[in-house]
This record gives sequence, structure tokens and C-alpha cells, in this order.
Amino acid sequence: MKRLFYCFCAVLAVMMSASPSWAKLDVVASFSILGDMVEQVAGDKATVTTIVGPDADAHLYQPNTGDAVAVAEADLVIINGMGFETWSAQLIETSGTKAAVAVATDGITPLLVDGEVDPHAWNSLENGLVYVNNIEAALSAASPADAATFRANADAYRAKLNALHNRALADIAKLPEQKRVVVTAHDAFGYLETAYGMTFLAPQGIDTDAEPSAKDLAELIAFLNETGAGALFVENIANAELIAQISRETGINIGGRIYSDALSVKGSPATSYLAMFTHNLELLTKTLAAAE
Ligand code: ZN
Repeated sequence: MKRLFYCFCAVLAVMMSASPSWAKLDVVASFSILGDMVEQVAGDKATVTTIVGPDADAHLYQPNTGDAVAVAEADLVIINGMGFETWSAQLIETSGTKAAVAVATDGITPLLVDGEVDPHAWNSLENGLVYVNNIEAALSAASPADAATFRANADAYRAKLNALHNRALADIAKLPEQKRVVVTAHDAFGYLETAYGMTFLAPQGIDTDAEPSAKDLAELIAFLNETGAGALFVENIANAELIAQISRETGINIGGRIYSDALSVKGSPATSYLAMFTHNLELLTKTLAAAE
């Protein structure tokens, strides 16, 4: 019996050394797109918990007790920054966590929209590369022994992001200038617009918490009736009815659903940052190329 017990312990020890889950870093990422990027760089060296999940709106999120527990127990917390997570400072403070807090947008020059910082920096893949660099640095500081693994994972990921960036530049360059105007509900694509040469119009501004005024909406509809736009797109996190109303009043088609601030749930086309960007790029270019 004693022998059997030792045997069991030996097996357990081997299992634990093969998969030392107790030695993994606990990392909390504030929202789904960032959570995926952290997982890509961390690989099997960290357990990543995401606060705002797929198809959920980080602008309007209200943290719960489970979030505070996750942050309290974390070794590292990574946020987007640029004012995206208006709730994060209080969550981190009230959790009492000792974790390091890293800001994924450190070093990115912010776009200003009506004097406000636009936080949706991930919608340019060049910025995505900065996120990956910051994530790699934060993970390596939290677990120096795994730095070589983080470097290898990040290098492989950066190569994929670079390839998609070059494809986006080439695909959008093929669209005639007058076909590059798009309307979405909230202003989440300013960095895509700047990086790839498109125009995104939105009635809602850079947050989703306020409905547009009747005057602003009427002005946008009048503008679209005069100048036209390639297509309207609904977003996974924002007001679809607003886009339906604009479509009714302008006759401009709804080109489908693009993903702005959150990944999709499994089974939908945007379950990772790369898949999300690829879906948005393909839907935008296909729809706009076919527009009148
Ligand atoms: Zn947003």
C-alpha cells in the first residue's frame, strides 16, 4: 500500500512537471482583443483571464466581484490604456492587487477626435505590433525565465501581423478613392482610416455611451444623401438600429457586420485579433468594390 502511494506520488510529480500549471503566470487582460494578443505571446506559460469578453462593450462595462478577485490574484494586469477602460483604475485599486500593470498602447501616438483621445489603436496593425512589443516586455519582466519563449512567440506573431498589414495596404489601395467611404455606428476605426487611407463616418463619436443628437444624425444623413458612401456596417458591440435608420433614410446598403471593440464568440468569424482584422478587411474591400 505504501509502495502504491509512492508510485502515485511519482506519477503526480511527473504530471505536474510536464504541465506545471501552478508555475504559470496569471495574467488579466482588460478586453477580448487584448486577451487574444496576450495569449499569442504567452503561449502555455500563462493563464490569461479576460475581463470584457467577446461581443461585449468595454466602454460601458461595469466590473463585478469576480473581476476584482481575478485582478487581486494576478501576477500581471494588461490594459489598453488611452482612456478606453474608464473603469480599470478603480478596479485595480479596490482589488488591492500587487500585480504589475502594463499599458499595451505605451509609445503609440494617439489620434485626437474633437479633442478627445481615440483609444481604438488596435485597428491599425502597425499599432498592433506595438501592443505585441509591450506585451512581450511585460510578460518577460513578470517571468524572466520564460523570456526566450515569449520572444519566439512574439516574433512568429509579429510576422503574421506584418504580413496582414501589407495585405491590407495592397487591398485597400486597389479600391478607387471614391469607394473608400464607410459609415459605422460609433467612431472606432480612426486608426484604420489613417493607416490605410479610408474614410469612416459615425454618428456616435468615440464612445458608445451617448446617443447622437437628432441634429447630428440629421446632418450626417443629409451629408450622405448629398455625397453618398460605399456602404454602412453594423458593429458587434454598437447600436444596429442606428445604422438601420441611416440605411432607410439614405438608401445606402448595409454591407454586414464588422468587429470594432471586441472579438466574436466561437463560431463567428472574429475569434482572434488576426481573424477579426482579416474579416473586417475582406468584408470592407469586397463590399466597397461592388458598391455602385
Ligand atoms: Zn469603441
